[in-house]
Order: sequence, then structure tokens, then C-alpha cells
Amino acid sequence: MAAALGLGYYSYRSANRLAERSAESVQSSNRVLGLKLVDRIEKVILDTDRTFFKLVSLDDPREFMELWRRIVRISPAVQSVIVLDDQREVVHFVAKLAPAERRGFHELFARRIVPDLELGKLAPDEHKHLHTSYGAKSYLLSYIRRRSAGRDYYIALNYHIPYIIHEIFREEFKELEETRAIAVMDEGGGVLYGWPVFSDSKLVFEAQFPTTLYRWRLQISPRDIASFRRQARARKLSDLVLVATSLSVILVGMAVLIVAARKERRANQLKSEFISNVSHELKTPLSLIRMFGELLSLRGASDPKASKEYAEIITRESDRLTALIDNVLDFARIERGKAAYQFSHGRLEPVVEQVVELCRYRAEQGGVRIATRVAPDLPELLFDASALTLLLLNLLENALKYGAVRGGEILVSVERQERRVLLRVADQGPGIAKEEQRRIFERFYRGQDARGSSARGSGIGLSLVKHIVEAHHGRVRVESELGKGASFEVSLPIAEPEPIPKRGGAR
Ligand code: ADP
Repeated sequence: MAAALGLGYYSYRSANRLAERSAESVQSSNRVLGLKLVDRIEKVILDTDRTFFKLVSLDDPREFMELWRRIVRISPAVQSVIVLDDQREVVHFVAKLAPAERRGFHELFARRIVPDLELGKLAPDEHKHLHTSYGAKSYLLSYIRRRSAGRDYYIALNYHIPYIIHEIFREEFKELEETRAIAVMDEGGGVLYGWPVFSDSKLVFEAQFPTTLYRWRLQISPRDIASFRRQARARKLSDLVLVATSLSVILVGMAVLIVAARKERRANQLKSEFISNVSHELKTPLSLIRMFGELLSLRGASDPKASKEYAEIITRESDRLTALIDNVLDFARIERGKAAYQFSHGRLEPVVEQVVELCRYRAEQGGVRIATRVAPDLPELLFDASALTLLLLNLLENALKYGAVRGGEILVSVERQERRVLLRVADQGPGIAKEEQRRIFERFYRGQDARGSSARGSGIGLSLVKHIVEAHHGRVRVESELGKGASFEVSLPIAEPEPIPKRGGAR
């Protein structure tokens, strides 16, 4: 039991671990992919920066004025290029803007952006970014300090934010978007790209852009996080069900074993009871025979009346002994699977008459009347006469043993009911308790009262009855209420039975 529970616990734990591992692996692949995407975006911007910084020549201002056309050709991502002198005054300014916008941006640049660039802190050839918002608008500026003809210059690139979002992000994310949900949000949680997952699940990975778009963060998660969770839950549940099923199979197996062991123990106990019962059954008539045999030899000649009585007792006890031995031998044959029946067509009446005659003397001794009621219209049946004799003998002897009431009656009746013949033995005795009615047909089983009384028996009579009835394709049942007698009913089919195979075993 403990082993089964331990096994169940370990399988459940490993199933759980497996589920955790699979979540962990999704988590770590998310992390790797997320960092890769951040890196890619950064690289696109940095590469653009570098290309521009290389292109912008400060030596020749005319060449610089040519720049605008190149901007359009090379990168739609850069919206304007501004050059400042060492006094931080704008010396060159090109932009892909309508004149009004151009003026607005020029002013914003001079008034707000330049102070925020903190150019004083910039080392020669140092390359930095300013990612900020003015009003509701986001700006990304890349800038560098350069030296030309003995003077410092600053070159600044202003990026076209909608282009970054709608073109660069889309281009860089599209490969992964089949399996992942990717979103970009600003510092206030505003959604700039995609549909973010608002969940604290470990399956969602978030990362900030480190140098360029550093106020934004990228989020990446499995495409259908809900179904992933559902699957994980379903997997966990099915593991749990599997563990529970195996546990219950083990438990049921154990219960079956326990029941079988108990049955076996009970069968062994019943067997030894049977042996002692049979020995007792054999001993009692034998000692009576011996006793009355001796009396007969001593006083037989002088008292003819007594000698007749002794002889009758000897005959009766011999009959009983024979019946018992027949019962035991039949039972043993059935147990070994050798009970072969000899079926032939015939009528049941002679069997009933013979058995009733056999028992009449005993009944009279006990002050009981055996009444018979045999219907006149009985059809012929296919049966084994000696087996049915044994069957009826057992039922009648039981009625005499347990159900005889002085002055009472035992009724043996045979009647027809549709396609069956019903053979009934009913007494007026104490009856059989409901809970015992099924068990009395088990081999070796003796009723509670029978065991406590002086009634002799071995517990095989009714199991023989049941076996014989089944060999005839019939049924046997008992109807009884405590204190109201017992009625055993055997029903045999009228229709020609199928050829009956030899019984391979009693049960
Ligand atoms: P045995 O008579 O040797 O004990 P049986 O198999 O013939 O074994 O009967 C089993 C049990 O059924 C009996 O021990 C008895 O308790 C109960 N029984 C059988 N017939 C009757 C009856 N007519 N009235 C009351 N109890 C009966």
C-alpha cells in the first residue's frame, strides 16, 4: 500500500516537473528570442547612424547640401540631419518636412533638444542617443562629436518614429510572429506596436532597448498563452488521472486479493468443518448399528418384538449411512468434474413417490405428515432419474431435519407452469433468515441454527441440489420467512434441453 502511494506520489511529482520544465523551456526560448529582437532593432538603428555619420562630410559644405537626395535614397528612417558648430549653433539643417513642420522642428531643436543633448559632456567621436518626448510626440536622436579643420562639430540625426514602428518593427518581427506575440510599449504602458499580454505569467518576457529606444520596452510571449496554459493544465490533469487510475487499479487488485484470500480461508475452514461433520455423521449410525447388533445377538432370541425393532433400527441407520455415503461420493465426483448424467425421457411422479416412501417412516417417527400434490397434466421431461432422486431426497431430508413440526405437514408438490415443471418441498418449520438464503447453496455451508442444533449434516446437500438442477438447465430457489417455514422450488424446463456437456468442474 505504502509502495503504491509512494509510486503515485513520485509519478505525480515527475509529471509536475515535466510540466514545469516545458514551461521553463518556453520561458528561456522567449528570453533568447526577446533579447535577439532587441539586439536586431538596436543594430538597424546603429548601422543607419554609422552610415550617415560616414556620409556627412564637413569638409565641403556644398557636398553636404547634396545630402538630402541621398537621405531619401538611403534611409526613409532618418527625417532630418543637423550639424552644429562648436558654439552649438545650427550650421546645416536638412529635413524631409513640409516648410511649416520644418520651421517648427528647427525651433524645437534649437530651444529644447540641444540643451537635452548635453553636448558639453560628449567626448570626441562619442556617439549617443536621446530618446524622449516633447508634447505627445516621441523623438529619437542619434548624435556624434566630430573634429574637422581644428574645430569641433556635432552631427545629429532625427529619426522618423512612425517609420521605425510600422516598417522596421514589422520587418524585424514578422519571422517570429507566427509562433509568438510581440508588442512594444512606451514608458506609460501605451501600446506602440502589437497586442501586449497583460499578465504576470513567467511565459511573458519583457526587455528594454538598452541604447537607442531606451524608453520603450519589448514584450514577447507564446502566441496563444491561454491555450498554452490550458494545455499545461490538461497535461497536468491527465497525469493526475493516470496516477489516480493506476493507484485505484492497484487498490482494486489488492482488494480482490484480500477477498480471494479470505474466501480461500473460509473455504478451508468449511472443508475442515465438513470433514468433522462427515466423520460424525458416519460415526453415529455406525455406533447405533453396532449397539443394536449386539443387543440383537444377546436378546434377539428371547424377545421377538424387540428383535424386530432392533433390526428396523439397524436397517434405518444403514439406509442413512448409505444415503450419506452416496451424497459424499456424488459430491466428490462433482468436485473432480466427473459427474456424468444419464438423461432419458420420463415422468417425474415415480421419482417423487419413491423418495416420499423412503422418507415416510422417518416422518411418522417425528409425528409429521408428508403430503403430495402432483398435477395430473404433467408432461414428460428429459432427466437423470437417480440424480433427481438424490435431489428430492436431500430436500425432503432437510425438511424433516430442520422444518419438521410435530403434528405438522411437509408438502411435496409438482405442477406445470408454462414451459416449466415446478417441484416444491415446503415445510412449516422455523424458516431461513434472509441473509442466509443465498449462502445455504454454497458447498459446506451450514446455517447458523443448524450448527448450533443437534441436526446432523455436512453442508453439501443443497450445493448438490444446485449442481443437479443446473445440469438440467433449471433453477432452484428458496422462499422463506423466519417462523413461517421454508419452501424450496426447483423449476425444470419442459423443452428438450440441449445436449448437456459433461461438467468440467462443479464450479
Ligand atoms: P446440511 O443439511 O448438511 O447442513 P445442506 O446443504 O443440506 O447441508 O443445507 C444447508 C443449510 O441450509 C442447513 O445447514 C440449514 O441451515 C439450511 N436448511 C436447509 N433446509 C432447510 C429447511 N427446510 N429449513 C430450515 N433450514 C434449512
